[in-house]
Amino acid sequence: MSTNDTPAASNFIRSIIANDLKDNKNNGQVITRFPPEPNGYLHIGHAKSICLNFGIAAENNGRCNLRFDDTNPEKESDEYVEAIKRDVQWLGFEWSELHHASDYFEQLYSYAVQLIEQGVAYVDSLSAEQIRIYRGTLTEAGKESPDRSRSIAENLDLFARMRAGEFADGQYVLRAKIDMASPNINMRDPALYRIRRVHHQRTGNDWCIYPMYDYTHCISDAIENITHSLCTLEFEDHRPLYDWVLDQLKTPCHPQQIEFARLQLEYTIVSKRKLNQLVTEQHVHGWDDPRMPTIAGLRRAGFTPKAIRDFCERIGLTKQNSWIEMGVLEYCIREDLNDNAPRAMAVLQPLRVVIDNYQEDQIEELEVGNHPQKPELGKRRVPFSKIILIEQDDFAEIPPAKFKRLTAGGEVRLRGSYVIQCNDVIKDNEGNIIELRCSYDPDTLGKNPVGRKVKGVIHWVSEQHSHPAELRLYDRLFKVANPDNEENFLDAINPDSLKILTDCRVEASLANPEPESRYQFERIGYFCFDAKDSVAGKLVFNRTVTLRDNGEKD
Ligand code: ATP
Ligand code: MG
Repeated sequence: MSTNDTPAASNFIRSIIANDLKDNKNNGQVITRFPPEPNGYLHIGHAKSICLNFGIAAENNGRCNLRFDDTNPEKESDEYVEAIKRDVQWLGFEWSELHHASDYFEQLYSYAVQLIEQGVAYVDSLSAEQIRIYRGTLTEAGKESPDRSRSIAENLDLFARMRAGEFADGQYVLRAKIDMASPNINMRDPALYRIRRVHHQRTGNDWCIYPMYDYTHCISDAIENITHSLCTLEFEDHRPLYDWVLDQLKTPCHPQQIEFARLQLEYTIVSKRKLNQLVTEQHVHGWDDPRMPTIAGLRRAGFTPKAIRDFCERIGLTKQNSWIEMGVLEYCIREDLNDNAPRAMAVLQPLRVVIDNYQEDQIEELEVGNHPQKPELGKRRVPFSKIILIEQDDFAEIPPAKFKRLTAGGEVRLRGSYVIQCNDVIKDNEGNIIELRCSYDPDTLGKNPVGRKVKGVIHWVSEQHSHPAELRLYDRLFKVANPDNEENFLDAINPDSLKILTDCRVEASLANPEPESRYQFERIGYFCFDAKDSVAGKLVFNRTVTLRDNGEKD
């Protein structure tokens, strides 16, 4: 992990672990895991869990595994497995061991047989609907299935035949025999195995029965000698089941499950199911669309791993669910890019400026610093020539109050270059401004003009040296802070979440950027080069974030 991250603040999980280490629990080891289900791409909520699990392990000379919880083959795929690995590594973490819950299918099966032999699991022929009715409610105890008293021998036989494929999907389930009157509904004889004839991306057609999540998760943790099994709050009520299974099996390792609050981020969605819907219904252009809160989307938008880690540290860790403002995430990336992104010039909506007193074929290679506070980021050459392009709205014939840019007859400084004065405004037949005729003051390169003050500074590019570019300005994907509260979250999609500017120009030095290079386009915002969508003759840049909170320029 990089060393210049925000220092770790104390939180309740760090305290628990510090105490365990003090007591020499688990022989002083800390082993965690990040256990995604490969049914979608990782999102910013997962980043919180990744930073926590890998971070806690790293801080304590421990280990963290990556484990795919692949027990729902219908929704899972290898594409997701690969994307998840890529994203974890990109965030800056290296797993100690890579596992799949499906690697444990045989072991899980043996453990289930053991539970049957111990008389604490049985094969039930109730239908899913009947099981639901028998389960009871929060205020009403459940009812025992008639199959609950089936003999051990018969249970063993039926379970073996479930595996052998003798029964139809749904005909039987294996259930734990716990307590149908438990106040915790998760303890009312939960299902452990179901029959499902689906192809699994790793085990193919080897199995027609699949273990349930709760059963699989605790055993997988125990097999891997996990010491602290960190998960989100919705699993709090599942902890008794987690402990029950391991107690019954007397596994040598019994990890401690600790729950923390999920990340909920305003103006977006952190649910793989809903993100999947956005992708499949084409409300966005794929999982890595820069508007998506996925790691892949944030990456494509230009977020850095450091900014995401910094965000996860800043939001802290509690047991209370709360909403985090999008501004916090934006603050983190802005801070990183302000420090580290080289500056460059890009013109969104070009206006031609002809400098009449500059020689026709003269070109000056001006040396311009890449970062105002960091000379170590070096300098680049920015060509200056007779015809340059400036931003249309950096010129006003009739300037509003406090307008500090170029006006008819007025002067302005070109960033890193000369002061120019506008002498004439050329318009087409409809009165649109199509060109400015200006003059430059040759005595103003790197120094103030003599005898007068020029306050405004604008960005520009040399027309003949600049490159055509498409700039994509992204905004929040949703119009409301909490789209989950809407009847249909799709109704809350922001119709203006993407504005595409197709006639932009970027400076000469950006002829061939490295994929994912990030820049501060002076006075405009932070942008990231999109190698995936760029083609010869058109460079594509995605806006990561505006320069300031309100998105206004100076
Ligand atoms: P989703 O509902 O988006 O599918 P999930 O919890 O089902 O989320 P998993 O792939 O099972 O997704 O999650 C892997 C790990 O990431 C789990 O330990 C889970 O608790 C954690 N996680 C998922 N979402 C969040 C979140 N919003 N904040 C913090 N941790 C999360
Ligand atoms: Mg899940």
